Amino acid sequence: MTTYPTGDPTGGSPGAGLLTVDPDDVALRLSEVRRRIASAGGDSGRIRIVAMTKGFGPDAVRAAMAAGVPDVGENYADELLAKHSEVAEGESSTDDDDDGGRRWHFLGRIQRNTVKRLAPLVHLWQTVDRTAAAEEIARRAPGARVLVQVNVSGEPQKNGCELADTPELVAGLRSLELDVVGLMAMGPAGPPDDARFAYRQLAAMADRLALPERSMGMTDDLEVAVEEGTTMVRVGRALFGSRSVPTDLRR
Ligand SMILES: *Cc1c(COP(=O)(O)O)cnc(C)c1O
Repeated sequence: MTTYPTGDPTGGSPGAGLLTVDPDDVALRLSEVRRRIASAGGDSGRIRIVAMTKGFGPDAVRAAMAAGVPDVGENYADELLAKHSEVAEGESSTDDDDDGGRRWHFLGRIQRNTVKRLAPLVHLWQTVDRTAAAEEIARRAPGARVLVQVNVSGEPQKNGCELADTPELVAGLRSLELDVVGLMAMGPAGPPDDARFAYRQLAAMADRLALPERSMGMTDDLEVAVEEGTTMVRVGRALFGSRSVPTDLRR
């Protein structure tokens, strides 16, 4: 049996320390997310939806896939590895590389010891903000696809490189032969519109560096992100419902 790093506030359903989801609810909520994207003027066929499954078990990964979302984001290496193996176990794929068509995005702290285990599984590393972390990725997964996380929130405690340092970091990652496809940002805490300036700055920097992908926007501010040109929204609660209080604070 797999153990997860979080407790189960609902009191111990078998085989999972994480919350469970109803696939029909996820499908309904996905239509609502697509409606929100469209009503903000976005093309919901073009903007990629990354299902953030932290706090939820492997059934959330399956439900997202069944509803038509193959992109799954994880914040913790252990959760990614555990869900990956549980989901793979339940499938009879003949092709090991295919992974059921899923694409795993990693959005956690990039640490030397976990990069090695994650390297064969991760489709897109979204939280690269230092050369040191990138060197390990380049060593374990040559040519890996990465986003540079930029701290555009103005909050010094947030992760991400400084906006002004972005061109130099991108150049450094390219010299490691990583495939830098875009930039990623977390919006500041507070009302959704507070994220607008941050997202606008991220998009402007991506334009300047001719990077196609902009990963910005979450459950509460996805309209603002769409208006500011996101290509990838990362949604958790909007697809799976609310997490318990402790997991909400996890990042
Ligand atoms: C949890 C998380 C999200 C999604 O948050 P919701 O508010 O549940 O949509 C997006 N990005 C990152 C990096 C996260 O950790």
